[in-house]
Amino acid sequence: MQVYQEISSFLQFRKTLSPGTQIGLVPTMGALHEGHASLVRQSVAENDLTIVTIFVNPTQFGPNEDFEKYPRTLEKDCELLKQMGADIVLAPQRSQVYPDETQIYFNIRDLDKKLCGASRPGHMNGVVQVVSILFHLTLPTRAYFGLKDYQQCLIIQQLVKELHFPLSVVPCAIIREHDGLAMSSRNMYLSPEERNQALFLSQTMQTIRENIADFSTVGAVRAFVNEALTKFPIVKLDYFEILNDTNLKEVSSLLPDEHPRMFMAAYLGKTRLIDNMPVFI
Ligand code: AMP
Repeated sequence: MQVYQEISSFLQFRKTLSPGTQIGLVPTMGALHEGHASLVRQSVAENDLTIVTIFVNPTQFGPNEDFEKYPRTLEKDCELLKQMGADIVLAPQRSQVYPDETQIYFNIRDLDKKLCGASRPGHMNGVVQVVSILFHLTLPTRAYFGLKDYQQCLIIQQLVKELHFPLSVVPCAIIREHDGLAMSSRNMYLSPEERNQALFLSQTMQTIRENIADFSTVGAVRAFVNEALTKFPIVKLDYFEILNDTNLKEVSSLLPDEHPRMFMAAYLGKTRLIDNMPVFI
């Protein structure tokens, strides 16, 4: 496995690949866990060559977010990636990716108006910006994204379609801890008590799903979520929404043909966690 920190040397290598090479790209911010590993394994299985990028992208963090303290564990990540059969790691410095102040800003319409797009202004611009850069540098056949970041995945699918990027986006299932908590690099920030109460997200959505016949409206589900919150006093809910899983619009009823999906974001102390689940399997 070769690790590139210089974009120019990566591009030299990229030029040597024959046009028919099937290339899988797994973009990450590092601090890798089993969630990332599942994407890498799938890419290794489906492509001739797998490129994993590790880059904590400053443009997708808001001014009061955790960019500075985001975990950076490059050596350990590379060990893991080697074991999983990744071929190339591209881990550039910030100045390599953004040598100058950026001038291009992506304005995403409806898909950005809810959920994390609404809670984190500018976040999806940063995501689309860095993903576009990574697509242009690596020219992948397939790019792997986790459904944990469901809205991000939808926006990237739209980006690829609208801007005619010649690649396929492969959405990958959410990987969870044994007790249901969605894996996240941010889970390592949690104190034992926060880790306990972080189960609010997955447990509440799981309970709703199992008892969906008891809820007649989205309002009734919301009331249940608010009631459940009282048992998790340190959880601060950012949002809970039930939206159509393709266009992220409000659903008019809780019926399977409306394709409702639950989305949740919550703070445990300073740590913001997200999760989502389909209402019907
Ligand atoms: P990140 O390093 O958090 O930017 O994540 C890199 C990629 O891994 C994104 O496509 C995420 O959606 C995906 N990912 C992160 N956590 C998980 C998880 N628990 N299950 C599946 N994919 C994940």
